[in-house]
Amino acid sequence: MFPQAGVRSPTRRALAGRARAGGETVSAMKPLEERFWAKVRKSDGCWEWAGVKSPKGYGLIRAGVNHPWFRKRRMMAHRLSYELAFGEFDQELCVLHHCDNPSCVRPSHLFLGTHGANVKDKCAKGRQARGATHGTRTHPESIVRGERQGSHKLTRVEVREIRNRYAGGETQSAIAKAYNVTRTCVGGIVRRKEWRWLD
Ligand SMILES: [Zn+2]
Repeated sequence: MFPQAGVRSPTRRALAGRARAGGETVSAMKPLEERFWAKVRKSDGCWEWAGVKSPKGYGLIRAGVNHPWFRKRRMMAHRLSYELAFGEFDQELCVLHHCDNPSCVRPSHLFLGTHGANVKDKCAKGRQARGATHGTRTHPESIVRGERQGSHKLTRVEVREIRNRYAGGETQSAIAKAYNVTRTCVGGIVRRKEWRWLD
């Protein structure tokens, strides 16, 4: 179904779906790739995950018994999508979204990065605040989720809190720790290099 599905070994083994060990539910499971695509809702923009999601909005799918991630029971759908499209990758790395939409599994919207890149990303979202490509335009449905859950990116409320706490005399390091961002990120916010558009 996916044109670049030059999939490598563990996934292919999982695709074969030769599940025995795990009992009836597992052996009845369809191959992983088939189960994956059955839950993907394609569009011109994001490909939304229609299956189970994590509290942060990431798609989840049960791995097959032959997959190395089987012990984790559920794997992240966007990470699987990346693997199906581009092959295996270093599991230490994060699969990040260009589109800022956690439930998106479209391979062209995904890229590999370090956890550091993720944190930096969280800070820098304020920069792309306007224009047609901003997430609030392309994914209006994601606004509420992002604001409510607050861990995918800083919310406007958090950015205001950060500025208030700094104005109230807290150090940038202490604030950075509290919001799980870098001190540089806090510095950019209080100096209004980041999130400049937010009063
Ligand atoms: Zn997307």
